[in-house]
Amino acid sequence: MEAHALMTARQPRNRRGYRAAYVLTLVVPLAAGLSYSLRGTAYTPPFNLVEVAPGNFVHLGRQVSFEDPDTDDIANIGFIVGEKCVAVVDTGGSVAVGRALRDAIREHTPAPICYVINTHSHFDHYFGNVAFKDDGPQFIGHRKLPEALGGDNAYVLEHFGRYLGEHPSNADIIPPGRTVDSTLELDLGGKTLRLTAYPTAHTHCDLSVLDVGTGTLWLGDLLFRERLPSFDGSVLGWLKVIGTLEQEHGVKTVIPGHGPIGEDLEAAFADEKRYMETVVSEVRAQIADGRDIDQAVETVGLSERERWLLWDQQHKRNVSRAYTELEWE
Ligand SMILES: [Zn+2]
Repeated sequence: MEAHALMTARQPRNRRGYRAAYVLTLVVPLAAGLSYSLRGTAYTPPFNLVEVAPGNFVHLGRQVSFEDPDTDDIANIGFIVGEKCVAVVDTGGSVAVGRALRDAIREHTPAPICYVINTHSHFDHYFGNVAFKDDGPQFIGHRKLPEALGGDNAYVLEHFGRYLGEHPSNADIIPPGRTVDSTLELDLGGKTLRLTAYPTAHTHCDLSVLDVGTGTLWLGDLLFRERLPSFDGSVLGWLKVIGTLEQEHGVKTVIPGHGPIGEDLEAAFADEKRYMETVVSEVRAQIADGRDIDQAVETVGLSERERWLLWDQQHKRNVSRAYTELEWE
């Protein structure tokens, strides 16, 4: 519940220009005639898409807040094309974004969509699942994802249900029919995907997707770039997972859940890791000094403030979550 409540951030206007310039350099406009009027809110075509590695296509989400009309289109989502079929990696925060992604796939290949993979349980990554229902794919996620999506959906339906259509219900939320305990390999035909499930980090159900042949790693929200990360699982667990991921060899392209594409894994994680380590060490110091959570929230991590988008809406909540986790060490 809090996971969704905490995502009520607004992007500072002075950073918008920079972001727009970045996206423009990567945009590959699709057919000009495409229109996505079916979405619950206004959507402005074209649907940006970039082939970041052979067969790996990414739609870059916008770095806007959850109060913005385009909040259904904030996550990086995309698809991977094999000789036999296509795998989708996350589907966006609305049926309309899911449909736009599906149209983009059809611009590139007539191959069937055999897998829809969801990297975790935040709605901006899976509300578009319903757009792929008629394709009959296997929906795949972390072993804990069905529990997360099958639990209390009332909050997300109430606050963001408009992105699922006029009468949103649990039936519009499609949980995975196939789950990953540790790793799972998928064959798309000439392309092998390795899915890895992690212990609690950003959430309780984070999953990555590696296109083995091209070294393209889709990290979901294990990696935030530019946009301040949101703590919804365990900050210590997340740092541990980053440590594991940094040992990966052969990764040439890094796709975050939010923010620009990277090339070097360690470099891509540097900002996020520094922010988390700063919060952890300063919260520990506050606890050691006997300061309470309210005092910690006002003082921890301020050296990071100018480095991130959506700071004001997210940072204090992160400190609060970290304090609650670390006070029991
Ligand atoms: Zn997330």
